[in-house]
Amino acid sequence: EDELSPYGVPAERDVETSLRPADLHEFVGQQRVREQLELVLHGAMRRGAAPDHVLLSGPPGLGKTSLAMIIAKELGAAIRITSGPALERAGDLASMLSNLVEGDVLFIDEIHRMARPAEEMLYLAMEDFRVDVMVGKGPGATSIPLDIAPFTLVGATTRSGSLTGPLRDRFGFTGHMEFYSADELDLIVKRSAKILGVDVAEDAAIEIAGRSRGTPRIANRLLRRVRDFAEVRADGRVTEDIAKQALVVYDVDHLGLDRLDRAVLTALVKSFGGGPVGVSTLAVAVGEEPTTVEEVCEPYLVRAGMLARTPRGRVATPAAWHHLGLEPPAGDQL
Ligand code: ADP
Repeated sequence: EDELSPYGVPAERDVETSLRPADLHEFVGQQRVREQLELVLHGAMRRGAAPDHVLLSGPPGLGKTSLAMIIAKELGAAIRITSGPALERAGDLASMLSNLVEGDVLFIDEIHRMARPAEEMLYLAMEDFRVDVMVGKGPGATSIPLDIAPFTLVGATTRSGSLTGPLRDRFGFTGHMEFYSADELDLIVKRSAKILGVDVAEDAAIEIAGRSRGTPRIANRLLRRVRDFAEVRADGRVTEDIAKQALVVYDVDHLGLDRLDRAVLTALVKSFGGGPVGVSTLAVAVGEEPTTVEEVCEPYLVRAGMLARTPRGRVATPAAWHHLGLEPPAGDQL
């Protein structure tokens, strides 16, 4: 149920939920993953069996949670949602697993951050639909095997590389989510504008899409911020000019890089001469967690051709220097 804010309209958080695509046809882009998934799901449905466990990997905001919900819907199943960090103790996972009903989809977001004991419990659950529950403490503790209902696990991760081998091996299918094209984001902005009842001009939608770092969640967020600007500073209509003015206020540059992206590039170029430098050193320089720099900033900077990950560390490409209005040093660091 949508929670109403004190103002009597849905809170912003719930607006995000209202923008989620409801089925595979509303889900824009990710052509390849969609086609692969359709085969996995429909193949299993034809056989009347539960489909293999599915892993979705890719940067934040690309639609992994949305896709998990769509998988459940396609299967006509209920979805239970949890996340790796929430499963600190194996007991947390055990109670979740033993409450599953046959055919349920269990979604575990950030599955690479699950604690080790929970992860080991999950192996058995994925393979044999069984959990071993520990009873008692100390030397008298025993484990009791417990059957659980056959379910489909959908795991999401921003770094499939840090999944342990045994966990990765237990997924029958891995979908690699990619950054969205400007055209796809344009469709998403227009669809969201329609749902939100915002009047967005054609070229304004293109402008917002082009600055969304290939990410639907960012496209939706920028649309809401631009709407604020249009309503407060103008007549509510989002024109190209309004969109551009608003994006300046929110510190989003013409390539869509935000404050943190630029801080990373600036540190790399100005403090470390363009690199190579280790990611943790870089993170300290911008006052962020290494995981944030690695999982949120870097994938897009790499894809935008401004940062390279080399065995010796991160290196700024000439495009990064130019983007900051600087001349790259002569000679090659790459
Ligand atoms: P993730 O789980 O990968 O972080 P989400 O599934 O939470 O990403 O997606 C973030 C938001 O982006 C969703 O609320 C939805 O509105 C929007 N979104 C994501 N993927 C799509 C898509 N393919 N088409 C339309 N909107 C999308």
